[in-house]
Amino acid sequence: MKRQVLKVLLLIFALLTLSTGGKALQINNEQKFQLNDLTVLLSEKEKELESLRGLETQIDEYIRSIEEQNVAINDLNVKISDLEEANQALREQNQSLTEKVVYLTFDDGPSQKVTKEILDILNQYGIKATFFVQGRNVSKHPDVLKQIYDAGHTIGNHSYSHNYTIIYESEDSFWQDINQCQEIIFQQIGEYPKVFRFPGGSNTASNLNSDLFVENLSTAMIEKGMQYFDWNIDSGDAASKSASADIIRTNAMVQLSKKKNAIVLFHDTDAKEATVRALPQIIDYYLAMGYRFDVLKPDGYTSQFK
Ligand code: ZN
Repeated sequence: MKRQVLKVLLLIFALLTLSTGGKALQINNEQKFQLNDLTVLLSEKEKELESLRGLETQIDEYIRSIEEQNVAINDLNVKISDLEEANQALREQNQSLTEKVVYLTFDDGPSQKVTKEILDILNQYGIKATFFVQGRNVSKHPDVLKQIYDAGHTIGNHSYSHNYTIIYESEDSFWQDINQCQEIIFQQIGEYPKVFRFPGGSNTASNLNSDLFVENLSTAMIEKGMQYFDWNIDSGDAASKSASADIIRTNAMVQLSKKKNAIVLFHDTDAKEATVRALPQIIDYYLAMGYRFDVLKPDGYTSQFK
């Protein structure tokens, strides 16, 4: 009995050993294969990663070189735009050196008939002019002043009274009269004129008072953002009451000579019908001589006797 039990026990032990021991061996081999596979895969992935890292470095280098190129391109663009600006400035300088400009000016208006006829002519040619008006005539014909302004011409101050005795007596009396003209113009157009012409021209002001008088007034005007203008072509339409259209035309043409900038003196009181008759041919002549028409500006070209 004891032997039988021992036999069975031995058999069970042998079976147990065989079954569990065999199974354990089988799992270890699979794991071993898997581990091998994984090791191979890992080393392949490591190689891939390494080559990717190399690629990443190359890409970084490319990006850096592109960024450097962009900086260089931006620098070049700045240089190009600087050069273009310089070129434009040179072109403008060249243009201003070769350009010929004529400034038509009409003094002593506004008047009901002649000013309107002159406006019609200027409108037909599509050119702008400067009207140095007397304040006392503005008070008589405010509608004409408005018409000049609305047509895009420049309005200048030519004193209120145009009375030499009052205006050229002292700086105080001068400014009183000039300010009165500024105000009446402002009431009509809502703007103060910035261009001025001395009645009779600055030489009349200087003769009736002094050079210092004109100098002081000029300085004061510049401080106010104003400028005074004489002329370098006198149409002669005020020289005598009988100045014919022919004489006016000849004066305006002959005195043009080779002037780069021409400020032409005309008058637009109602007595100046001859000026109206002479004007179209004068404009034609200036155009044929290659002139551009412009209005006077405080910081632009000026012609001054004093
Ligand atoms: Zn005048």
